[in-house]
Amino acid sequence: MKILVINCGSSSLKYQLIDMEGETVMAKGLCERIGIPGSRLKHEVPGKEDYVVETDLPDHSVAVKLVFDALTGEYGVVKSVDEIGAIGHRVLHGSNRFTESIIVNDEVKKVIRECFDLGPLHNPANLMGIEACEKVVPGKKNVAVFDTTFGMTLPEKAYYYAIPKEYYDKYAIRRYGFHGTSHAYVSQETIRFGGLDPEKAKVIVCHLGNGASISASIGGKAVDTSMGLTPLEGLIMGTRSGDIDGGVIQFIANHENKTVDEVLNILNKKSGVLGMTGISSDFRDIENAAEEGNHMAKVALDAFRYRVAKYIGSYVAAMNGVDAISFTAGVGENDKVTRQIVIDEYFSYLGAKIDPERNNVRGKERLISTDDSKVKIFLIPTNEELAIARDTKRLIEA
Ligand code: ADP
Repeated sequence: MKILVINCGSSSLKYQLIDMEGETVMAKGLCERIGIPGSRLKHEVPGKEDYVVETDLPDHSVAVKLVFDALTGEYGVVKSVDEIGAIGHRVLHGSNRFTESIIVNDEVKKVIRECFDLGPLHNPANLMGIEACEKVVPGKKNVAVFDTTFGMTLPEKAYYYAIPKEYYDKYAIRRYGFHGTSHAYVSQETIRFGGLDPEKAKVIVCHLGNGASISASIGGKAVDTSMGLTPLEGLIMGTRSGDIDGGVIQFIANHENKTVDEVLNILNKKSGVLGMTGISSDFRDIENAAEEGNHMAKVALDAFRYRVAKYIGSYVAAMNGVDAISFTAGVGENDKVTRQIVIDEYFSYLGAKIDPERNNVRGKERLISTDDSKVKIFLIPTNEELAIARDTKRLIEA
């Protein structure tokens, strides 16, 4: 069976067609600048030259139509859409209404719509992607895979905020966590690859990309995760502040004559390592600047790694132990210095030790700790598309 995975942003649409037999990518691509002048599709088929179409993409339906044309046309990989079993959609927020991925129907779409103010940047676009597929390939099953369902197993002590309970009752304000498909995939892959106990393994996953979060799970089930009601909570990120005293919001709003929305926009888009340095949200730029002697770039890197370590430490406490720590996503998979500093400088008391030679690797599944390390440390590349495709296949076959 072949599954199409779609990840819609407000002006972009990423896709992968996966053949589930060998779990191989048959084609993947990206529609950019949807609704903006200069839109285009880039379609990649392994072993072939990229196929680029520069054409007007006024909305997501036109983009989805172009994707299906690319998949079935001259540069295509299937003869007709009939070969595609179903479509899996990444959806950011499912509130506490969905504890699992689900086949889309009117009720599911209604809940995705009700969650617009919990995921204002993503949920509207995710729904547009689903509705575009319904229009372009009617009758094809669509599956919604939520970023929030991994966090649905959190115990009450981890998901309640210490605010008046009425806000939970009225609005379901609680900690949800994001990057759920990545945390679920990497924690399970850590157990499989590391030969750990599938029921009892205590695993911490550090998803360190532009957006960054950490999870603790036992037997693949989340017990805590660092993002909250929205992706703002937790680690220092490319442009997000992560944990912050709410008083800062009030202070900036009062002194700079800004609304709460404007301050939140600053905390989401202009903070993190970008805000601290004024240089860039890209960690490579920050590392280069630090090497050239820029003081705040060095501080931002130190602060980022320190926050990662503090979360790992608290999750060791949350689980009363840890069997494995896995690094994933852009920084986690590529930046050996961050991995080495986080483990060696903060967790030697646990007997955790990075093996410098094993750690000298990028983007490959590998054990990177020494043989005598008391905690196994892994690099596990994330694969959110495959996780979405697996869930989609499981649901439509059920
Ligand atoms: P997202 O999906 O959240 O946009 P990614 O997981 O793609 O993020 O990660 C992107 C980040 O990874 C960028 O900030 C980039 O600088 C960082 N990155 C990629 N390669 C390296 C590297 N060799 N060293 C440090 N950071 C890297």
